[in-house]
Amino acid sequence: MKLSLRYKAFLTLTLLFLPPSCVEQKDDASLSKLQSKVITSTVSFIAVGDIMLSRGVARKIAAAKNPLLPFSKFAGQLKSADFNFANLESPFSGSDRLPPSGSLVFNAPDENIAGLIEYNFKVVSIANNHILDQGLKGLIYTRDFLQEKGILAVGAGQSLDEAWQPRIYKVKNIKIGFIAASYASINDGGVFKNDYVARIEDLDRLKKAVQELDLEADLIVVSMHAGKEDTFKVDDSQRSFARSAIEAGADLVIGHHPHWIQPVEVYKGKFIFYSLGNFIFDQRNENNREGLAIKVVVQKRKIDEPNSKSVTRVKCVELIPVIIENFSTPREASSEESRKILAKIGIDKRMHCLKKADPMSSRSECCSVN
Ligand SMILES: [Zn+2]
Repeated sequence: MKLSLRYKAFLTLTLLFLPPSCVEQKDDASLSKLQSKVITSTVSFIAVGDIMLSRGVARKIAAAKNPLLPFSKFAGQLKSADFNFANLESPFSGSDRLPPSGSLVFNAPDENIAGLIEYNFKVVSIANNHILDQGLKGLIYTRDFLQEKGILAVGAGQSLDEAWQPRIYKVKNIKIGFIAASYASINDGGVFKNDYVARIEDLDRLKKAVQELDLEADLIVVSMHAGKEDTFKVDDSQRSFARSAIEAGADLVIGHHPHWIQPVEVYKGKFIFYSLGNFIFDQRNENNREGLAIKVVVQKRKIDEPNSKSVTRVKCVELIPVIIENFSTPREASSEESRKILAKIGIDKRMHCLKKADPMSSRSECCSVN
């Protein structure tokens, strides 16, 4: 039987969008014929919130003579993903000078980059209120230093065009594009704007960047450094930016800066993580010492036929609460600790699948990589 073009297109879309468990239940010869031709590739990455490699964290590293120290207790998780993403809250500058404790002007010794390299951070956001702590020179130094070590820096640069320039990381034939923006250009609460840091108010730039990236990347991730500090509450500026990103075509929004974790929203079928909180930081309050790592499983499916288009989506997200020990070193929270941490933002499950009928349903099998 020859399938009509329209029916074939319908089957193709059905096949690509449905989870395999649903597809297998269809007793349809045509469907299973197409199904046998589906090529599936899956990648995973872990995203974490703020990483600060200066001040107290740098002192702990220096005392241990081990720049890998802050990453050491989460090593297994970080090594389990194809790559990792973070917000880098402290610039490098080529100088080892450390700020006094309590200072809000960060500078990380160059050797502290070792953990980012060793633990496979391939993309970092530098759109934040500290990237200019060592001036424009420090920003450029940080961007180039990261680049030299094979880490893509996104969200800030020598001009706004550069700051809004997306970065694409390609792994296992899946191109994941990143855009990043911040609520502030320097550490002044967002008062003064400059031409070096992408800002969350620039929704026109955001839209343009997402649309351009859509032509090249399989999946679009938008990083958002915004919100009020030390609160579980999401503010209007975060909501407006994150939802605009999804409306423009982003597949996932990852927030940080509040230093506390904040709620998760499914908006138009896409996840918004308003704040992952801290990951490597020296703050002392209990909520500052808890953070959220998320393991994002991305799946690309394509019918093995000429001109067939691929469909890439976030298949599922695993929430991994962490507790920062020794004011520097995150470890995975125990299941009891995880339950308590997630309850603070009204979440009671660690695995989250994106399914139309019940987007926040918990299905552990969904996070398996096949
Ligand atoms: Zn910040």
